Amino acid sequence: MYEFPVFNDKNLDEKVKNVKAVIKKNEKTIKKLLKLENKSFENFALVLFELEEALNFAFQPISHLNGVANNKKTQKALKELLPLLSEYSTKLSQNAKVYQALKEIEQDGALDSEQAMALRLELHDFEMEGVALDKERKKRIAKINSKLSSLENDFSQNVLNDTNSFEIIIEDESILKEMPSVEKAQAQTQKDGKAVYRFTLHQPSFISFMTYAIDRNKREELYKAHVTRGVKNDELMTQILALRDEKAKILGFANFAELSIAHKSAPSVKNVEEFLSKLAQKGKPFAEKEFAELSAFAKKLGLDELFSFDLAYYSEKLRKELFDIDEEHLKNYFESSAVIEGMFLFIEKLFGISFKKAKTKTWNKKAEAYDLYENGEVIGRLYIDLEARKNKKGGAWMDNWTSGSITPKGLKRLPIAYITCNFAPSTKEAPSLLRHYDVETLFHEMGHALHHLLLKSKVCSVSGVNGVMWDVVEFPSQFLENFVYEKSVLKLFAKHYKTGEELSETEINKIIKARNFQAALGMMRQLEFGLFDMRIHKGALDAKSVQTVLDSVRDEISVLRPPAYNKFQNSFTHVFGGSYSAGYYSYKWAEVLSADAYMIFADTGVFDAELGSKMRHSVFSKGGGEDMNKLFEEFAGREAESGALLRLYGFDDK
Ligand SMILES: [Zn+2]
Repeated sequence: MYEFPVFNDKNLDEKVKNVKAVIKKNEKTIKKLLKLENKSFENFALVLFELEEALNFAFQPISHLNGVANNKKTQKALKELLPLLSEYSTKLSQNAKVYQALKEIEQDGALDSEQAMALRLELHDFEMEGVALDKERKKRIAKINSKLSSLENDFSQNVLNDTNSFEIIIEDESILKEMPSVEKAQAQTQKDGKAVYRFTLHQPSFISFMTYAIDRNKREELYKAHVTRGVKNDELMTQILALRDEKAKILGFANFAELSIAHKSAPSVKNVEEFLSKLAQKGKPFAEKEFAELSAFAKKLGLDELFSFDLAYYSEKLRKELFDIDEEHLKNYFESSAVIEGMFLFIEKLFGISFKKAKTKTWNKKAEAYDLYENGEVIGRLYIDLEARKNKKGGAWMDNWTSGSITPKGLKRLPIAYITCNFAPSTKEAPSLLRHYDVETLFHEMGHALHHLLLKSKVCSVSGVNGVMWDVVEFPSQFLENFVYEKSVLKLFAKHYKTGEELSETEINKIIKARNFQAALGMMRQLEFGLFDMRIHKGALDAKSVQTVLDSVRDEISVLRPPAYNKFQNSFTHVFGGSYSAGYYSYKWAEVLSADAYMIFADTGVFDAELGSKMRHSVFSKGGGEDMNKLFEEFAGREAESGALLRLYGFDDK
């Protein structure tokens, strides 16, 4: 029986010490490796990749705890380690001897395609750290990297602090008369012995208030607090962009956008901008129509002009009128654990993988671990932690602890992934009940997790999601989320949590019909983020110029201008906090692949075994080792086309 490592949330200090020890050990090993006479892929490159795996294994639990059980201690640990890690990886990537050795192994040939890709990716990392530069400029790159990693962390931490520090207390219950009782109950608290309602900037509290609170002034108050988070980030933003720009120029790129694209699936910055603009042109008339419909509806209810803080409120009312969907009623059919079970069943039907609860420790009693089985054999482990709580970072994400691969000693290592979400917590009275949108989020993250877990690779650096190009990483996740609009999939788990009664055909049809409600407005928002992100990375912009770029993108794309105090960019952690910088377009880029793949299933049959197996083996079992466009072609027998995306959104009738 395979033995997984046990997640331990104790002894943070020990963990920090351990990371430092691994860094030291790795540095020693690298020196030893360089002394080898006959360097080969197996005795040099693979061992080198393994050092990264070991470091991630030691560090990842700390960063995971910082996400799911954030406190002063985890913050301190991260603040202490991030510069060290960045220094270590920069030093390694700037090591010309290691680079030379890898290059010789590459030129030697005799590599399989996976090994070749792993080497190419590694060499690219070296080149991006300026391995070929003179000493002075190399030093500068190292300095920039370390500075950037701590500035980006500060940026995110400021946003989290501001998110934590604001609340709105509602004493007058009538303001919440339209709010579903479960959400109201979650907000209920005591103040001076009186029952009051507390709303915060965390999800789902924030969205709940914006959607249902009838007091417009109070809605604006909460909205304003939300879009002015990160006020202290102006200076950080300026510094981050300046450093990214400087780094790009030292490495011979015109700007950071060019650097970012250099190793992505998309061919060029220009190509990405054209792609986004073209989609925007297609979508804008539909978005304008949607907005006009909403405005007319609000007018009927006595509101002359819609502002940003009215959108969720009136949209929900309109949605109710158009589709007669009662979220509160619907939630009873999406009980968290039933959804998880149903999702597992769906995956079993699609890919032939089954799940069993694992008996192991987690960091919270609400977090569970599951083992994946294929043909009776365990193939990976997945942690699922869905409920929102204080000190948990907002949003939903997938992360990985280990990568499925063969160690240099020839031992099998199985992959471990985490899914973290922020869904409505369970209470004494009721279990955690999800909105349909939450179910979609869960499937999305499950797509990422499966991509990581289903891969059988020998080389850890291209196993699972490792090494997958950023702009196609959302392909498996977006592919999977589509299935929550399939009747046969919903029927697997949509049952009333008290009575076990199945969700009726009529209700399911409403969900499917409502799918494209305001789809164009949603798409335009994504395109706005994508274009904004790409354009601010074309130079060393200060906070003021960032605003100018944002304004000009909004001129081109927005249907509704937010109020002037809206500083959404100051809390745009995707881009200023790190990984999605000059890469936010990836969501839409990957959606061309995911929509196309999904439509093939929708047209052929959701549980078509042959298709499922093709998808599992062509896409989900291939990680960073191969070009995703080729993998798509292998699956579909042709190149991906953006027509499917427009068809999915219902934009093809014009
Ligand atoms: Zn994703």
